[in-house]
Amino acid sequence: MKKTPEKCSFCGKRKEDTLILISGQDAYICEGCVEQALSIIDEELGDRKQSGEFTSHPDFKIPQEIKNFLDQYVIGQDDAKKVLSVAVYNHYKRLNHVGKDDVEIEKSNILMVGDTGTGKTLLARTIARFLNVPFAIVDATVFTEAGYVGEDVESILTRLLQACDYNIPAAEKGIIYIDEIDKIARKNDNPSITRDVSGEGVQQGLLKLLEGTDVLVPPQGGRKHPEQKMVKVNTTHILFICGGAFEGIDRIIAKRHKTHVIGFKSDKDHDKLDRGNLIQYVTPQDIKGFGLIPELVGRVPIVTYLEPLDKISLKRILTEPKNALVKQYKKLFELENVALSFDDDALDFIVDKAIDYKLGARGLRSICEAIMTDVMFTMPSKKDIRQFTVTLHLAEEKINKSKLRHLKVA
Ligand code: ADP
Repeated sequence: MKKTPEKCSFCGKRKEDTLILISGQDAYICEGCVEQALSIIDEELGDRKQSGEFTSHPDFKIPQEIKNFLDQYVIGQDDAKKVLSVAVYNHYKRLNHVGKDDVEIEKSNILMVGDTGTGKTLLARTIARFLNVPFAIVDATVFTEAGYVGEDVESILTRLLQACDYNIPAAEKGIIYIDEIDKIARKNDNPSITRDVSGEGVQQGLLKLLEGTDVLVPPQGGRKHPEQKMVKVNTTHILFICGGAFEGIDRIIAKRHKTHVIGFKSDKDHDKLDRGNLIQYVTPQDIKGFGLIPELVGRVPIVTYLEPLDKISLKRILTEPKNALVKQYKKLFELENVALSFDDDALDFIVDKAIDYKLGARGLRSICEAIMTDVMFTMPSKKDIRQFTVTLHLAEEKINKSKLRHLKVA
């Protein structure tokens, strides 16, 4: 029988024209066709092959569902929750609508203004978890410090890719939380900034990402170098949520309101202003006044605020959310068959300390740890104890002994 000439059964290339010709039972395939086949497989099965636990087709959730979910984890902050729920709903509605007709719905990135430790990151993270989309947190100040803008801004996307195991289609519909965006405000317009850095270059870099563009991302992060393989990520459908404390913005808001009062508002309206919490009146105009460039402000058109946390909210944070600290400690003890409880005045004490030390909700954990560490150290050795109560006396004693007592009381 005549031997068939060795050539690629797909493109017909002769063996001598190929680099590698792989032989099968009755056929051959050249390296070019293997590569092409691979890219077809990637294209067709990309989502399924790489999806891991994330989705590139986020579930469609209505605003009330999103808010109900947030309510389980985040205490208070009703206005921010509503604004976020609607914005996220519209964002994913927009994704489903892309290309269906010529009305192009613009992307609406979000800006949250509020003191540190009031739940900004928690809100962004909880939404991402609910939608099952990749989520990354970045701190805008690192861009300032590194100096060279372009490269660092891209590292935001490296984080997102790492968060979803390099599932590019999922990453392209993910959520990025940019923290401390206020720290890259232009210095001269900003009443509070103390560091001598101009964030304008960083703002320009971020602008491109927020607008939506193709970005070549070094998959492992770090500096770009010629041999490094880059992955292309398009940011058009990535939702950016920015947050910052914008310390001093209340002065800008107050100033604006005064102008309005003189302009066209009556004294009666003026009186209605809640002067103790001006942040609730924040607008994009105030953000511009604070020193973010107008183009960037235009790219985060949805501005919302978080309330400062009072004693009641802090106590609720300690006890109510699904993963509240008190619930976590109880669970830890339950695993050792010990029923743990906290006296009410001990909880009040923890909250008071968090307020005294100006640590906000973030401080609750360190205070609880300072109280609980000794107990958690000795408990496993005391096999006969089945019940334990954290009393005010115990809480005071442990805090007085801990290094936290060196913190300056606000
Ligand atoms: P921010 O981003 O505003 O600085 P975070 O969201 O990181 O603050 O909050 C820090 C921690 O404090 C959270 O992990 C959470 O445990 C707690 N916390 C803050 N605000 C709230 C809130 N409104 N409801 C529940 N927990 C909160």
